[in-house]
This record gives sequence, structure tokens and C-alpha cells, in this order.
Amino acid sequence: MMRFVTTEPSWEIPSPRIGELMDRERAAFVQAHPRSRNLFERSRHSLLGGVPMHWMAKWPGGFPVVVEDAEGAHFRCADGHDYVDLCLGDTGAMTGHGPAPSIAAITAQLQRGMTTMLPTEDAPLVGEELTRRFGLPIWQFALTATDANRFALRLARQITGRSVVLVYDYCYHGTVDESFATLDANGEVRARVGNIGPPVDPSKTTRVVEWNDVPALESALADGQVAAVLAEPAMTNIGIVPPEPEYHAALRALTRRHGTVLILDETHTLCAGPGGCTRAWDLEPDMLVVGKAIAGGLPAAAYGMSAEVSDRIHIDMETSDVGGVGGTLAGNALSLAAMRATLLEVLTEQAFEIMFSRAERWTDGVAAAIGGAGLPWHVTRLGARAEYLFGPTRPRNGREAAAMDDFALQQLTHLYALNRGILLTPFHNMALMSPATTERDVDRHTAVFGEMAADLTAH
Ligand code: PMP
Repeated sequence: MMRFVTTEPSWEIPSPRIGELMDRERAAFVQAHPRSRNLFERSRHSLLGGVPMHWMAKWPGGFPVVVEDAEGAHFRCADGHDYVDLCLGDTGAMTGHGPAPSIAAITAQLQRGMTTMLPTEDAPLVGEELTRRFGLPIWQFALTATDANRFALRLARQITGRSVVLVYDYCYHGTVDESFATLDANGEVRARVGNIGPPVDPSKTTRVVEWNDVPALESALADGQVAAVLAEPAMTNIGIVPPEPEYHAALRALTRRHGTVLILDETHTLCAGPGGCTRAWDLEPDMLVVGKAIAGGLPAAAYGMSAEVSDRIHIDMETSDVGGVGGTLAGNALSLAAMRATLLEVLTEQAFEIMFSRAERWTDGVAAAIGGAGLPWHVTRLGARAEYLFGPTRPRNGREAAAMDDFALQQLTHLYALNRGILLTPFHNMALMSPATTERDVDRHTAVFGEMAADLTAH
């Protein structure tokens, strides 16, 4: 399932070389995308930062590529260029764009009512399939993984009667206020850099420990004040940082011992297989969150819980509409139809086999190019997802992974790939494979990556 390829450091890339290549790539990008540029200029009059969502301005090149259409593992931009999409909507399109069974189910449901605040026949089918995959017996729905995480935390607080949440340094779980906390040089909890308008100082709501540090976890849970640990089974949002072999056993034992609810967020780690890491590694969370990909790209998320958790939840029907766990469109008919088809017919065991084999090929190609060029980088794979980091050895926690990041180099690697028809996930050097991704798509990336490695190392 997991594979680590490491090369020894040989030399640092001089920053003038990065600047020189970036200038060249920026000029090529601007020249090749006049229509995207015009649309961006027009959007600046009506949209904050010229984009529908502020992250869309973060792509390198000065303005984002405007998408004309997307199908399978490819999309075409407004200027007519074809791209291999290794970002796949940062997992939202892990199925590939427009998988036929999801489209058929969505199209059929469109004619039969999209949202009614009532269940459809798909509801128990989706619940049963989620139970089959992840092992947890009881489910609820939300529209985003962020919401699912927020609702899981509220329920954990209710049943424990505690308020504090524990997260890992450099985690990401969506726009969950409590999770934007980090450790400073003295080991104190601080708001994460860039935290926009936090409602309260996160040090009041959150404890933070480093991933893979068992003694730190033990001491953070010891006073019995922590309602929930919210964790990805392997960190995926600061590069891929897998758990050390005994970490999950310790996490489970300590949360049980101290009466803390263990919430595993499988939104990204669904890449490890049909039941995420929970099934692949026999994990036993009390609650589990999964979002993004489960409806083939349509907004939908789910959160599951053990029988013990569900027995302890108290929802008062008279006041439940103002209880803080909600979402008018949550569990809507369209999302349920999309989840039913996507889970039963698209993200199947066979589909994962294909995705794993593509990701293995991608990892091998990148590792060979890193080794060939003598770059001090390494690459890690988790199922259908793989990522290279600008450091020679696998980090042990989020802090070590963050120290390997190099924004200028990252911008260059992304723009270099984009100019040659490949989209990587922004903020990472991450690639995700869909069932529609072909060997040819992977080889296209390998060739481009090799070209870039040679360019970077040319003296
Ligand atoms: N959990 C994890 C692990 C994520 O990576 C993300 C988003 N990248 C989320 C939750 C939030 O998903 P959304 O933005 O769809 O709410």
C-alpha cells in the first residue's frame, strides 16, 4: 500500500536558476493562454481577486487557466489546450470527470426532484454501503467534508461533555475553526499563519501535538479534558506523512483509555482503498468523515459513528433545527443518488486496482528521474495518491514536512508541468490517479518531470 523512495542529497538548486526558469515559464504561459487571461481580466470587475474562490488565484502564472470542459482524466482550457488532470479537483473528481454511472444517476434524479428535506430510497442504500466499506454502523450526511468534521466535533463534545479538541501540527480538515492551530518554537499552541478572522484564539479550543509522537499524545490526553482527536489516518495535506507502524495502535489505546472520541477524516485517504485506511489497516475509529469524491464531484459528505457513539447522542426534536448540526441541503436527493451510483458502480475494488497501478507507475517514474538528476528529493505513495517533497528523506511529522517546502520551487514545478499539459494539485506536489487515468497519461508526466529535473540541474 505504501511505498517510500528516497535519494541521497547531492546539491541545492541555486535560486537564480529557479528565477530564470520561472521567468521563461511565465512568459510561455501568458503567451499560450490569451483567452484565459481575458476572462480573468473581465472577472476582476465582479469577483474578489478576479476568481470565484480565492484559492483559484494561487495557481502560478499570474491568472488561472479557465476550463472549457473536463472528461475522465483530462480537461480542455478556454485556449484549446488539453491537460492530464492529476489534481482532480483536489480529490473531488477522484472518480475522473463525469463518470458514466454517476452522470446517469444524477440525470435521472434531476427529473425527479433535487431537494425536498425528505429521504429517498437511495438513503438506506448509501448508509449500508458506507457501513460495508468502513465498518461503522450509523451515518449522517453533509454537503462538505468541512461540515461533516464540524458536526462530528459537535457530537463528540455533546457525548463527552468536554470542549477541547486535539489536532496534529500542520493538519488540514477544511475550514474547521478549531483545526487552524499550530505549535510555536516553545511548543505553545498558536493560530496558524494566515488564519483569517478566527472567532476565538485557537489555543482556547485546541491542543496540538506532532504526528507520530506517542508521549506527546499521551500527555495531551492525560487530564481527560479532550473531547475528540481529529486526525487523518495518514497526513496528506503537508505532503504525505504516513503513520509509523505502531502509531495507530497507540492512538486508539490512548483515546479509549481517556474517554476521547477518535474521529478519522478519510476525505483524502480514501485513496488507500474502497474503505480508506480504516479498512486497509483495520482501524477502529469512533467516528469517520468522508467527503469530496463520494458523489462523483457533486457536493456531498458523510460522517459515520459507532453504535456506542450513536447511543450516547441526544437530539431533542423540538429544538434540533437550531442545534448547530444541520444543513438544509444535507442528504438531498441529488447528492444521495450521486453517492449511491458513485459508491456502488464507480469507486469499486476494480477501479482502485487500476488507480494503484497508475500511482505506482507515476511514483517509479518520478523516483527514477529524481535519482537520475541527483536531486535531493523523495517521493511517497499512498494508494492512488503520490507526492514528491523537496527533501531527501521522509518526514516524521507535519513540521518536518513543512520545513521541506519551498514556495518558489513549488510554483515553478507546477507552472513547468502546466505549460506542458499537466495539472498538479495546488499547494502540493501531489498527483492523484482516477480509474480513467491511463499509462500514457502517467508517462506524459514522467517525461515532463524528467525534462524539468534536467533543466533544474543544468549548470
Ligand atoms: N478533510 C480533509 C482531510 C481535507 O483534505 C479537506 C480539503 N482538502 C477537507 C476535509 C475539507 O473538504 P471541503 O473543502 O470539501 O469541505
